Amino acid sequence: MGMLPFDVFEQIINRESPADIVYEDDNYIAFRDIAPKANTHVLIVPKGPGLVTAKDAFEDNVNIFGGLFLVANKVADIENLEGYKLHMNVDEAGGQIVPRVHFHFLSSDYESPL
Ligand code: 5GP
Repeated sequence: MGMLPFDVFEQIINRESPADIVYEDDNYIAFRDIAPKANTHVLIVPKGPGLVTAKDAFEDNVNIFGGLFLVANKVADIENLEGYKLHMNVDEAGGQIVPRVHFHFLSSDYESPL
């Protein structure tokens, strides 16, 4: 499956599509994946425009990427998880489907060979 032609996460940010929101602040939103791959599967998404894949990381916006880790820690607190897994698909060639940067925040039951 290739990259979707539209950004469904922007619709969630703008409240045009429903989502089970776990955390939100001015710069990020975190909501439950519609097709969870673990007991806890939350998507952590920056709200700002122009970040399609992690390949859009540059020195002038690297703080936005770093902030994803701070939100992951907040989600872990909210979900009462001592540890967790983070996964990011990067670009269509890396398996990314939704054209907006996002971390998959997963509880440790996530089946990963890593
Ligand atoms: P990607 O392959 O882009 O890293 O993963 C996209 C993720 O977004 C998938 O795990 C998929 O289940 C999830 N997803 C796709 N559309 C929606 C939606 O409309 N709402 C929610 N909550 N998750 C979605």
